[in-house]
Order: sequence, then C-alpha cells, then structure tokens
Amino acid sequence: MAMDELTGSGSADEAIQRRDGNLIARGDEAGLVTRISGHMAAIMQELNLDLEDPNFQGTPERIARMYLELFHGLFEGSEPTVTTFPNEEGYHHMVIEREIPFYSMCAHHFIPFYGHAHVAYIPAGTIVGLSKLARIVEFYARRPQLQERLTEQVASFLWTKLAPMGVMVVIEARHLCVEMRGVKKPGALTTTSALRGCFSDRKVREEFLALIGRKTGW
Ligand SMILES: [Zn+2]
Repeated sequence: MAMDELTGSGSADEAIQRRDGNLIARGDEAGLVTRISGHMAAIMQELNLDLEDPNFQGTPERIARMYLELFHGLFEGSEPTVTTFPNEEGYHHMVIEREIPFYSMCAHHFIPFYGHAHVAYIPAGTIVGLSKLARIVEFYARRPQLQERLTEQVASFLWTKLAPMGVMVVIEARHLCVEMRGVKKPGALTTTSALRGCFSDRKVREEFLALIGRKTGW
C-alpha cells in the first residue's frame, strides 16, 4: 500500500468530500413521495401483486416515506454541524468512541447492512464533542452505501474537519444481501478499516485495536 493511501493524501479526501456534496434540495419532499410511490406501485404491478389487497394499500407511499427517512443523509442540511473546541488541555492521546450502532442500505441491492463503528482520533489543536462522532456515522449511513465507502467517508470527514494527528475507523457489519440471497451465509461479519495520519504507525494502530477489544496484528 502506498504511503499516500495510508496517510490519506489531501486530494483523495477532497475528492471524497466533493463527491458527497451533491445533495437533494429541501422543499419538494411531498413531490418526491408522490413520484417514488408511483414507481413503487409500478414495480408491485410488475410482480402481479393486487394493489387493492388491504395489506398492500398504502405500501407504495409507506416505502416512499421510509426511503426519505432511511436516505436522510442525501438531503441538504443533514450534514452534522461539527462544533470543535480548542484542545486547551493539550490532550494528545487517543479518543475513542466504540460500538456506535448504525443501520444502512447496501448500494448494490437496496437491502440493509448494519453493525457497529469504532471511531478514534488523536487530537492536535482541536477536539470535538463525543456525540458528534456518532452523528457523523449516522449521516453517512443514511444513504445507499458501501461499507468500504462509509468507513472512508467517516475517516475523511474527521481528517478534514479536525485536522487531527490521526484518525482510524473500524466498521463491523452484517449484510442481508449476503445472508438472505446469493451465498446465503447467515451471521457472516464484514470488517473494514480506514486510517489517516499517525495511525499508519503500527503501535498506534495496535493500541486502538486493543482498546476496542480486537486482536492486534493488523
Ligand atoms: Zn449488497
């Protein structure tokens, strides 16, 4: 792996931020629900489902509204405001938020994947409120997603906004597209990680993995 990939080159992080900046404008939620409902009803008709069946009545609209909720991170204004504070105590050790639960939707199959994120950073000049780490995971999870991309996006966001000495994100998740279809492997766990800055140092990485209770040696 090139050093650039390990430390996160500026241009790669800029590309991630730029790609994720194309958000849906607010104000036409009702129109969106109507249009998505129409498409959903068309899919159900293709499946020969009786839309007059009491259990299907309202389903297209329910799904449309659910998409707006599950894909909340695609809308303008949903990016968390990250209030940072000066690192007055001069704390330069690891800050870890572990076992942050999340639910997302697989970009390839539009069914859920879900699990936990462990986020760590080592502050330089600024620190961030701990609850924000979970909010950042939530923001990026609320869209059709790849676990790999989610992991990179959270790391990139913190790296860009906090300019810390280092960031590392580990995500462990179960994918229903692996469990319910295809290879059908219930319980399989997919682990991804992304790191920036001083986490390219093996000792730093191992401290993090030990603190989240995972085997060292990555
Ligand atoms: Zn999938």
